[in-house]
Amino acid sequence: MGKIKVLDEHVANQIAAGEVIERPSSVVKELVENSLDAGSTKVDVSIEEGGLQLIRVADNGSGIETDDCEVAFFRHATSKIASGKDLFHIRTLGFRGEALPSIAAVAKVECVTSPSADGLGRKLVIEGGSVKSFQETAASRGTDMTVRELFYNTPARLKYMKTIQTELGHISDYIYRLAMAHPQVAFTLKHNGSVLLQTLGNGDLLQVVAAVYGTAVAKAMLPVQAESADYSIAGFVSRPDMTRSNRQAITIVMNGRTIRNYAVSNAILNAYHTLLPINRYPVVALHIGMDPALVDVNVHPAKLEVRFSKEQELVRFVEDAIGSVLRGQVLIPQAGRPT
Ligand code: ADP
Ligand code: MG
Repeated sequence: MGKIKVLDEHVANQIAAGEVIERPSSVVKELVENSLDAGSTKVDVSIEEGGLQLIRVADNGSGIETDDCEVAFFRHATSKIASGKDLFHIRTLGFRGEALPSIAAVAKVECVTSPSADGLGRKLVIEGGSVKSFQETAASRGTDMTVRELFYNTPARLKYMKTIQTELGHISDYIYRLAMAHPQVAFTLKHNGSVLLQTLGNGDLLQVVAAVYGTAVAKAMLPVQAESADYSIAGFVSRPDMTRSNRQAITIVMNGRTIRNYAVSNAILNAYHTLLPINRYPVVALHIGMDPALVDVNVHPAKLEVRFSKEQELVRFVEDAIGSVLRGQVLIPQAGRPT
């Protein structure tokens, strides 16, 4: 008898959860991305105690068909790709089919969902990967996911959680970026009942920038807009006298996905060249568009890091677009601006 065994689904999900669900903000990210993939125009996020007690994401998207409710929580179950070919044309935020089973493996989940406007839906309760109940319920069209007691059955992971403030910081940072990535979606973020962010969903990126950073910052933003054969860029960069002490306020959105990419953020900073004071960084909210074939998003489970096949070209394009906006400004240094 050989010694090698295929792990059962439950154990496999717990292992995957360790990778996909690192902290409360990972749950928020996965749930909100599902809401966006479902075509929602309104996404309400409520958090309690930094997300360790409760994370609730309610959307008005497509909802989940009755027959799909339980399947959605299976490993590698996705409605977003059907074959390997599809990996090269990804337009959705998710595609791995790992989020829901991973979350359900390490928390207590309640999913209320309806694909129709008839007021009827389904409620599925899953705890630690086991289905507790599945029944008919009153529900409006869309999906309402509640995740309670994250990591309740993985004490080792729970021990690594930082303070409520730190966990909340990760969550709000992510929601702010998503709101800037999707100005056409109305987002609300609440923590312990108080509203941290509310966007209108009217497509106005500058309104979102104002909601996130305040009106003083929004007033100091310069519009950027450019297009080449391969790329397009649109959004806002701050005047060089409106800066921050770190790169945190640089948001780069690539084909609707917020990304981290060192080359692109350096291109932005290089465009400012000597205009920025030393160790100061601009506020940036930029949307970059390109053929999905030119970018590989399948690098990391959290899909934050991406690889570009023509990185040098992209870098030059971004630097030129921002550089020409900044050079077009008459720059009058002002002392004592808020940061
Ligand atoms: P993925 O997003 O990679 O497909 P998930 O585990 O996150 O995998 O979700 C599994 C499936 O459940 C999705 O493909 C989708 O069909 C369905 N689903 C999850 N969340 C929602 C939602 N908020 N609205 C509609 N469908 C959803
Ligand atoms: Mg998903």
